[in-house]
Amino acid sequence: MRCPYCNSDNSKTLETRDSPENTTRRRKECINCGKRYTTYEYLESVELMVRKKDGEIQRFDVNKIIRGLQKACEKRPIDMNQINELAEKVRQDLMLKGTQEVSSREIGDLIMTHLKKLDRVAYIRFASVYKRFEEPDDFTRLLSEVKKK
Ligand SMILES: [Zn+2]
Repeated sequence: MRCPYCNSDNSKTLETRDSPENTTRRRKECINCGKRYTTYEYLESVELMVRKKDGEIQRFDVNKIIRGLQKACEKRPIDMNQINELAEKVRQDLMLKGTQEVSSREIGDLIMTHLKKLDRVAYIRFASVYKRFEEPDDFTRLLSEVKKK
């Protein structure tokens, strides 16, 4: 970063401050002319896209996962922290895949994998909505599968 006054690239950092929005603000002083200026460093946002069943592509939104989980976890001994944590785990799993596009199915499967470990009832509720059981047998099968474990 060059000094905006004299164009020198010789500077020292007086202060560095990280913000919760993943921004780093640096107060700099030019060694050449002695003037001070501020630089900002941003994390390049990694945009994750979600392909839905009907082929429509949407921007990934962790709040949608949270809302789905809230519904599934209603009246269960699960607090908001656990819900946020689970949603964050799902987001990280998706990021670690390293692809820019994921399917809504992958997201649903990940949520179910994590939810299963957290709460069986919430898991069944989520699964019943997510899988949109077309045949009543599917639900019975899922129930017995969960009971077995
Ligand atoms: Zn300067």
